[in-house]
Amino acid sequence: MTINTETAQLLKRVAAVFRVKEGDTFRYKAYINASVAIDNLSEPLVEVWKRGGLDSVPGIGENLAAYLNEYFSTGKVKHFNSLFKKVPSGMFPLMTIRGIGPITAYKIAKKFHLNEEKTAISDLKEILIKGELNKIKSFKEKTVQKIQKALNIQSFGKTRLPLYEALPIASEFIDYLIKSKYILAAEPLGSLRRKLETVGDIDFGICSSTPKKAMDYALTYSKISSVITKGGMVSHIKLINGLEADLKISLPNSWGSMLQHYTGSKLHNIHLRTITKEKGLSLSEYGITKKEKLNHFTSETKFYQFLGMDYIPPEIRENGGEIELAQSHKLPRLIELTDIKGDLHIHSDYDFESSHDLGVSSLSEIFAVAEQKKYQYVGFTDHNPKFLGLTENQKNKIILDRKKYLEAQFHAYEKRVKHRVIKLLIGMEVDIRTDGTIALSEKSLSLLDYAIVSIHSSFGLTQEENTKRIIQALSHKKAKILGHPTGRTINSREPISANWAEIFDFCAKNKKIIEINAYPTRLDLPSDLIKQAVQKGVRFVINTDSHEDSQMENMKYGVWQARRGYAEKKDIVNTFSFENLRSVLEL
Ligand SMILES: [Zn+2]
Ligand SMILES: [Zn+2]
Repeated sequence: MTINTETAQLLKRVAAVFRVKEGDTFRYKAYINASVAIDNLSEPLVEVWKRGGLDSVPGIGENLAAYLNEYFSTGKVKHFNSLFKKVPSGMFPLMTIRGIGPITAYKIAKKFHLNEEKTAISDLKEILIKGELNKIKSFKEKTVQKIQKALNIQSFGKTRLPLYEALPIASEFIDYLIKSKYILAAEPLGSLRRKLETVGDIDFGICSSTPKKAMDYALTYSKISSVITKGGMVSHIKLINGLEADLKISLPNSWGSMLQHYTGSKLHNIHLRTITKEKGLSLSEYGITKKEKLNHFTSETKFYQFLGMDYIPPEIRENGGEIELAQSHKLPRLIELTDIKGDLHIHSDYDFESSHDLGVSSLSEIFAVAEQKKYQYVGFTDHNPKFLGLTENQKNKIILDRKKYLEAQFHAYEKRVKHRVIKLLIGMEVDIRTDGTIALSEKSLSLLDYAIVSIHSSFGLTQEENTKRIIQALSHKKAKILGHPTGRTINSREPISANWAEIFDFCAKNKKIIEINAYPTRLDLPSDLIKQAVQKGVRFVINTDSHEDSQMENMKYGVWQARRGYAEKKDIVNTFSFENLRSVLEL
């Protein structure tokens, strides 16, 4: 920090104390002005001071010049220090967060006793995670959301990589690894193997009976920019995209325990260790020690079996009850990608005055991919026509013309394939407006097979307002599916606030379907909410929200997310046969 920034910050702190403790807005402004002036100086303030020119700096009056003189001569200002004693020190770092001014910072620091500068920001994060910030009565929900947003943006992105970015990097490396005759298997470890929406480190486990040869081969991968440390069994590398990774080699006889150990999660492993310790067992990456004898495991299944448990899929190793379920052989049979029989949220290339973005692929392009995937049905759901500027008749005409357009292409497709025909559904993705109405008239809605209702605006409403508007929108009989429920987009938009328990109860009772949106920057429905809804008997649909045919490949992300929420095939309507789906959609 330069001397000018340092001094400017000091004055900002003084200003803040005047503001919150003395209610002295005059001196607050004077100190802020001085602080800004100093920050903008083109030469170090200390030089100005040395030549006795402090009073020539705009905003520095006689009093302040005296304090600065004391500051540059002794390194501190007694008067300032006595002011600082009036407030908890934790408020100062909080003021550096966007959207937090002196009063807000003071209220937070005082309420939660944040007296340490060093830990104040991480303490605040914890308070937010626990949802305790609204304990401050004068805080509006919007204030809390704003702070949460600012902090997430500060912490997100730097350390955690979205799964869809990490996965191709990892897959490419693994494809390279398993080409070697010295490598028997290779897997990603940690959060990447557990398929979290964002991942921390990308580390790799390598199974080999000739570790030296395997390591030499691994380290010659063309996308490694540098080998930071090289060891016989573990090396630390940097990839050309700047990501760092650990490579951990295991002999085949302990491959199972090594994979288990480094897949985590930490909480899962801690819980596992606690309950097995009672039985006199000790777990490590090398195996399980029982009565001083180390037992090796070639597979994770054998590892869990030794502990009297069923194999636990990595996606649910989060210490959310999976260990107990595995002990009592009651783990859910999680949904698999191959269970999926169709995709009900695809934007077509039909060109019209739409409220949001159009798709780019034609029906025949979409159906070609659906055929490869052995889908039985596809639902097109373009956004509703723009709400303002079109008459009801114009909107109806758009919907009818679009229907004709899709049907004509469908008939051409039917003629071409003859044998196994994929069924076509024509729906629409309809905006949930701020007041809970949906952006299509009764007549337009009656022309559709089904509607997905989604929030695309006014994300900042209160929990109560959002809950109300969602339930109201879903109350329409054509509204079958709630699209991308929380609206969160990774690293760019926070989830909306809503009472999900109430919404899930409504959906369970009224047979409304919740979408698990597989678009990799969305994946907006967190696994714990999916889990809650599964327990309430809510049904889901996993949709790709594709705007072009290649995006239909994203289905896997949605399936992983559903698995992380303990969802089984029976919970997901697009694993149903077309006949059963029709009855769910009341067609
Ligand atoms: Zn949408
Ligand atoms: Zn969409």
